[in-house]
Amino acid sequence: MLYNLIKFKFGLKRFIFLCLYLTFSNSFSQTESKLVDLKQSANEFVFDIRYATSNNFTKEVLYDCEKCLLLPEVAEALKNANYYFCDRGYKIKIFDCYRPLSVQKKMWTKLPNPIYVADPAIGSIHNRAAAVDLTLITLDGKEIDMGTDYDFFGKEAHIDNYNLPKEVIENRKILQEGMIQFGFATIQSEWWHFYSKNKSGSPILDIPFVCEN
Ligand SMILES: [Zn+2]
Repeated sequence: MLYNLIKFKFGLKRFIFLCLYLTFSNSFSQTESKLVDLKQSANEFVFDIRYATSNNFTKEVLYDCEKCLLLPEVAEALKNANYYFCDRGYKIKIFDCYRPLSVQKKMWTKLPNPIYVADPAIGSIHNRAAAVDLTLITLDGKEIDMGTDYDFFGKEAHIDNYNLPKEVIENRKILQEGMIQFGFATIQSEWWHFYSKNKSGSPILDIPFVCEN
């Protein structure tokens, strides 16, 4: 009896462990294969993926190529947001989408300040393919004044800073109001950063970009 009970308990533990393993390994690989490449699937956006260039706060090229990968639900919401902005005379210019965890670690060594760079031990929502950095430009490609450049780390970039020209405040309002309608949320320190409220708890990924030659 005791032997059978021990055997049962041991078997049950192994069974639970196997189920957990299959659940997590499966969800990881499924998530990995399901990221949408926005550059391939939508041509209404303008891309300026700064970490594929040295024109970013690290002054180093961090991505091997210009990619914008997002979870399908996030990509869909962003496409709808862009249609909304297009109806109003603007379109979205994208600076960053999914960011591999290995890149997050490099950024953290350059700027270990959690107000501006997420600690890789916790992970950024960019590492979860559920955050996007962006601005608006006009339909004919003119820049819209948002008060600072992308990745300006200071209070001028804060969304609750109203000590800015009226036009800048209005431009940020148009951007934020549009994005919020499509399920995105803001953070206080960066006017360009938006994340999906529904998908912010998705698994952290560290898939390197597959670059075409
Ligand atoms: Zn961001």
